[in-house]
Amino acid sequence: MAVDLVLYNAQIMTGDRRQPRAEAVAVKGGRIVAVGSRTDLAGLISPAGRSSDCRGKTLLPGLIDAHCHFFSSLRQLFSLDLSPAAVHSIADIQTAIGRKVRYIPAGTWIAGSDYNEFYLAEKRHPTRWELDAVAPDHPVIITHRSLHACVLNSAGLQKIGLSFESEEPPGGLIERDLESGELNGLLFEMLSWVQERLQAPLSAAELDWGIGELNRRWLEAGITSFGDATITNDPAQYQKLAGLVEKRAIQSRVNMMAGGAHLAAFKEKGWRTGSGDARLKIGSLKIVISQATGEMRPGQEELNRMVLAANQAGFQVAIHAVEKSSVEAAVRALEYGHNQQPETNLRNRIEHCSECSPETVARLAAIKAVVVTQPPFLYFQGERYRQETPPEIQPILYPFKWLWEAGLIVAGSSDAPVVSNNPMMGIFAAVTRQAPDGAALLPTQRLSAAQAVAMYTSAPALAQFEENEKGRLIPGQLADMVMLSDNPLDCPPEKIKDIRVEKTLIGGQVVWESTN
Ligand SMILES: [Zn+2]
Repeated sequence: MAVDLVLYNAQIMTGDRRQPRAEAVAVKGGRIVAVGSRTDLAGLISPAGRSSDCRGKTLLPGLIDAHCHFFSSLRQLFSLDLSPAAVHSIADIQTAIGRKVRYIPAGTWIAGSDYNEFYLAEKRHPTRWELDAVAPDHPVIITHRSLHACVLNSAGLQKIGLSFESEEPPGGLIERDLESGELNGLLFEMLSWVQERLQAPLSAAELDWGIGELNRRWLEAGITSFGDATITNDPAQYQKLAGLVEKRAIQSRVNMMAGGAHLAAFKEKGWRTGSGDARLKIGSLKIVISQATGEMRPGQEELNRMVLAANQAGFQVAIHAVEKSSVEAAVRALEYGHNQQPETNLRNRIEHCSECSPETVARLAAIKAVVVTQPPFLYFQGERYRQETPPEIQPILYPFKWLWEAGLIVAGSSDAPVVSNNPMMGIFAAVTRQAPDGAALLPTQRLSAAQAVAMYTSAPALAQFEENEKGRLIPGQLADMVMLSDNPLDCPPEKIKDIRVEKTLIGGQVVWESTN
């Protein structure tokens, strides 16, 4: 048999229980055709095919980030970095904005992203007046690291038409000064509402550069497939992505979630979960449960109805639920959907599932639900969780071990740009549960390195109904692979976060390679 490529002399972690390790892998037509020892594949290593000596390096299945936000990451590229690494106080935020004001014409938007009030000296969100002090004539928007809050200055509020008289859009919260009732600039759960009104489109050149940069960053992180979880995704966005995928501006495979409000539009096109091809597919229907206003939205009945309507239209659902009560509401809705068609393997998902009691774990397992969660939060926000999460919630925070032991499919993700898209940080965090200060959150819920790697390979493939296509290095699967500087399954846990991706292959083609 003539093959296109043979990688040999590698430590191959196949993800296959029957043959977990191998030394050589052969690729033909973009798929894996053989995996085994060097001797097994000796006949395929020929000058006719391309052969590559991996010199003992580790090969893993291509990494899958099951839940991130590609276009929010794009906006972040063009905004000021206000992350805890860059600013430590509201005064620092003012300095960063003030610097930009000097070389941008008045009236032009200034954006900043990733501020996190917990890591600011003042331990609170900035106000519109503090932003006005340095930018009286420029509209300013700064977004919280979670993307669930943002602050606008007076010119910004005016530009998007928010004033003293304004009422909240559904699910949003406009914070007001307690005495005067005046808007203080802080908005919760209103970012997509605000973005629709920003009227600050990127130029074609900025867009081209930004997408190129993001594409490179995703490949550099070894992400051969990702799920885009943007709540506003509609059929037009799918077509836009299709264009970018077609001209190879985005090379990772994309699983685009459908925004919950657009179910009818997707149905009209005849599209459902799984529509598309190996490079761009429609994923689950995204539904968000929010408690920003103090009241749960959507309510339980509405949620049940949405889940059933989606399932009946051929959509798997993915419900964003963070707080204990939201997670429980999501479980009730998934049980409702499950009971209507108990024979069907719906693989309905909960996204985040941050606060999850043992009882909830058991109920999720009973309906074979899928959990898509974010191990890297334990690292990047671990300190905050330890200090701010109520003591009764701490023991049920991201209980990965319980979820695994109950037999659930548990997939990992970054929620980028909320935190770095580097899957090695997620694997490290799932194994150690350590924050940068070295202290671990709920260490009893640590996973093995093999489980943590599965969270970024075989589990997300299952979460996307693509377990026969990707997630393992076995014959028949797409030849998506990463070559790593070290083996996360063998190296000391604390070293996992330093592992670098040296090569990324999609469909047997090298799409990224380290230069050093
Ligand atoms: Zn998200």
